[in-house]
Amino acid sequence: MTDSVTNLDAIRRRIAAAEAQAGRPAGAVTLVAVSKTFDADAIRPVIGAGQRVFGENRVQEARAKWPGLKADWPDIELHLIGPLQSNKAMEAVALFDVIETVDREKIAGAIAAEMRAQGRKPKLYVQVNTGLEEQKAGIDPREAVAFVERCRSVHGLAVEGLMAIPPADENPGPHFALLEKLARQAGLEKLSMGMSGDFETAVAFGATSVRVGSAIFGGR
Ligand SMILES: *Cc1c(COP(=O)(O)O)cnc(C)c1O
Repeated sequence: MTDSVTNLDAIRRRIAAAEAQAGRPAGAVTLVAVSKTFDADAIRPVIGAGQRVFGENRVQEARAKWPGLKADWPDIELHLIGPLQSNKAMEAVALFDVIETVDREKIAGAIAAEMRAQGRKPKLYVQVNTGLEEQKAGIDPREAVAFVERCRSVHGLAVEGLMAIPPADENPGPHFALLEKLARQAGLEKLSMGMSGDFETAVAFGATSVRVGSAIFGGR
């Protein structure tokens, strides 16, 4: 077994333990294995160990490695977890099964137009900048619920959930709690939150998916 497969197994156990600890059903939380910076040869053993849900943060990088892997394993679900520019909307809609980083009107419009043009329907999450960090993508939490509603009413997009990356130097709990509250207010069921360092906390706060990279693939 390679290290990544051993790590994957350990992360699965820790997610299961966190679900049990939080009184949530087994399997309530989906593991998104974040494979950014790792090449197809590094990813294949993890697919071989049964992992089917992956996250990438750059459209260009994903386009270089995932079409081949998806051809070999058609049941893979690929998530875009990094910022999206509207000039990449065509490629993003063509390649990704879930786009987690819808965060402004222009991107919502570009995605909607591409979905119509391509006849593809990736699932969509709205990214929320819970820490109001200037350098970070995501919509202001005070505008999130109204934005989800505009995605529906203006762009005809069915948003399924919310995603956030809490500030690196803060206790993540309050950020996860805020995201959960906003999702409830917006009538959304999916919550993408928690990474290598804090996914168990995220599970306790109601995450339905956690995005784990370095704890599986190693340092970047
Ligand atoms: C890189 C990345 C992750 C994974 O981070 P790790 O700390 O390596 O687990 C999760 N979410 C996003 C948005 C990322 O860019």
